[in-house]
Amino acid sequence: MLTVRGLSAGYDAVDVLHAVDVTARAGELTVVLGANGSGKTTMFRTISGILRPSAGSVEFDGTRLSGLPADGIVKAGLAHCPEGRHLFAKMPVEKNLLLGGYVRRRNRRRVHELLAHVYELFPVLHDKRHHPAGTLSGGQQQMVAIARALMSDPSLLILDEPSMGLAPLVTAQVLDAVAQINRDGIGVLLAEQNAQAALRIAHHGYVLAEGRVVLSGTATDLLDDPEVREAYLGV
Ligand code: ATP
Repeated sequence: MLTVRGLSAGYDAVDVLHAVDVTARAGELTVVLGANGSGKTTMFRTISGILRPSAGSVEFDGTRLSGLPADGIVKAGLAHCPEGRHLFAKMPVEKNLLLGGYVRRRNRRRVHELLAHVYELFPVLHDKRHHPAGTLSGGQQQMVAIARALMSDPSLLILDEPSMGLAPLVTAQVLDAVAQINRDGIGVLLAEQNAQAALRIAHHGYVLAEGRVVLSGTATDLLDDPEVREAYLGV
């Protein structure tokens, strides 16, 4: 379980995230909704140790993450799939994936199991494993980014807007894969613009506005909430 308490963070000593409390329970899918600039990326980057918090704490399965280096956080079981994918475009798909397994390199057997598992989840990546990642379609590149994060053998996967820039049909495929990953027992913390599709696969959700949690509840409660329906579901 991930417990974020009173978390504040920002850029150049200016906080854009203000005293945020968020919990992502083990094995559940937790969605974070919010307009552009509401602080979702800043929250995720702070949880995974890329940004330093100015206040508050992040605990994962009882271990305090704040202060650990980013690779220590990955080793603790938390993988961050960033917005914008950040693949090595000229490197073959499989090399990109193996880089994701770098923190587990001492256990070669496990790395091979993980690779077989991500190819099962995304068969097209197996077909294209020798192709440079940059030659794949947008949806396939997003699959590489998710698969690379899974290669670190996480118990919690943090996914920042995986459907960014994708056509509706491809978005649906990516979110189906996210739901499958969660059914396989991996907890997911997901930021997603497609609020309705995200809430349908989620257990719990939070709504961020201007760096603060303004609403939270079960996915069903949020789907029924008049404010959420008006602001995020266009109903
Ligand atoms: P988006 O969906 O656009 O990524 P978001 O909810 O993830 O939105 P953040 O990216 O966390 O929001 O941005 C929160 C605030 O922090 C915004 O006002 C943004 O302009 C600011 N911000 C983000 N990145 C930086 C940066 N590198 N330097 C300075 N300010 C930043």
